[in-house]
Amino acid sequence: MPDKKSILLISPPVSKPSDPPAGLAKLAWSLKDKGVECRVYDASIDGILGMLDHPLVADDTWTRRALANREANINALRSLGHYHNRDRYKRAVMDTNRVLHMAGITFNTTLSLSNYGSPALSPVRSQDLLRAAEQFEASPFYSIFSKRLTRNFTQREPNIVGLSINFLSQALCAFAMAGFIKNHYPRIRIVCGGGLVTSWMNIPDLGNPFMGLVDEMVCGPGESRLIELCTGEKTTESCCTGYDYSYFDLDRYLSPARILPYSTSRGCYWKKCAFCPEKSENEPYRTASPQTIGMDLRRSVEMTTPGLIHFLDNALSPRFLGHLIDHPPGVPWYGFTRMTRHLTDPVFVQGLKAAGCVMLKLGVESGDQDVLDAFSKGIDIGTVSNALDTIHQTGIATYVYLLFGTPAENENSACKTLDFTLRHSPSIDFLNLAIFNLPAYSDEANQLDTVDFYEGDLSLYRDDSKQRSTILHLQPRCFFQFGKRL
Ligand code: SF4
Repeated sequence: MPDKKSILLISPPVSKPSDPPAGLAKLAWSLKDKGVECRVYDASIDGILGMLDHPLVADDTWTRRALANREANINALRSLGHYHNRDRYKRAVMDTNRVLHMAGITFNTTLSLSNYGSPALSPVRSQDLLRAAEQFEASPFYSIFSKRLTRNFTQREPNIVGLSINFLSQALCAFAMAGFIKNHYPRIRIVCGGGLVTSWMNIPDLGNPFMGLVDEMVCGPGESRLIELCTGEKTTESCCTGYDYSYFDLDRYLSPARILPYSTSRGCYWKKCAFCPEKSENEPYRTASPQTIGMDLRRSVEMTTPGLIHFLDNALSPRFLGHLIDHPPGVPWYGFTRMTRHLTDPVFVQGLKAAGCVMLKLGVESGDQDVLDAFSKGIDIGTVSNALDTIHQTGIATYVYLLFGTPAENENSACKTLDFTLRHSPSIDFLNLAIFNLPAYSDEANQLDTVDFYEGDLSLYRDDSKQRSTILHLQPRCFFQFGKRL
């Protein structure tokens, strides 16, 4: 099919170094299905491993130790033994981060396993991203990605490069890569997509502020648009099945076993929580029948032989959880669920455990029913309480998310959250505490008195000025009490 265009899909640094990028595997599956010549480059894991090899001179004991154990620490993060010993695991991560941090400093940037930033360039300012593109040689990842891309393009220059940008930590390097490609290979069409680009595209009147560099920004799932660009054929969006991880070296990632990231749906079946981007961006919820997903999941498991499945859904539906109970995937798994009454049923939860569930991530957010109601979470604090105990007693780990500083919260409600957490601490294995950021373009933000959170035309958050002053006053006390009493 000579008239079809070829494409190279790239995931820029820095994104999670433990999992291969699901978005690229999904796009690759759909493009290959249409006969498109597609290649994939996970520049994130390549960049992280490359920066760990960066030549460094150690001036202090910690850096000397981290450099001396560099190889051993990478191997430790890839072997199960270290994960049984929290202190050894922590040390391997901290020392690995130390090497990255010191390597980042040589470029006047901040770098870690989970973040990349620059004091001079903001990823939420389009002018700064354009500067990152102009100064692509200044990127710490330049020597790594330029060699790899040059080799790739020498074999065969693709017609299109798709940059998948999901996190702020990827934005600066994505634009440096775009700058390099535009400079050396001006015929290549550059298309940007992914979760972060989708959120930017929802900023009213933004358009494409990168015209001349980025040829197209894709909002939402990218399969249809990329298929159209490569084949000229218009297709309807496929659903959630179909991932091709054969493009990735799954043993390069920093995890003790291969991880299979997999989503059974798109969007959120609840889509009612105030301030949630799923609500404000109003993407439709899409899923296939549990049987279809189950078959596709089994195929993915056979192809990748993972040690763990990471379900990426915003919330796994009770229906699909029921399917997993009847048809276990044969591999341990974890993912996000809503706090529904199903999780208070010991038989249901034991079924999940028997089906391989090792951990549930749970957006509890607050211990105050009034706050939950104001948030339209649709959960009852009594149900949360029962569910936590039931899940814990069954032997499934609980990873609880709490959110402070929402507009409906006051000191009294924050203290109720503290009390709730303390009462249930035996049933909580992991806690994620976050301070609320107000999505700038949510319906609810219009009703509040807000100020800029980050300066920049691409900033997605604003501050609720009244609530911010309350939270600044309240949080140190609450977090201190958490620390003291947990
Ligand atoms: S359940 Fe989660 S993803 Fe769904 S609307 Fe609520 S916060 Fe958003």
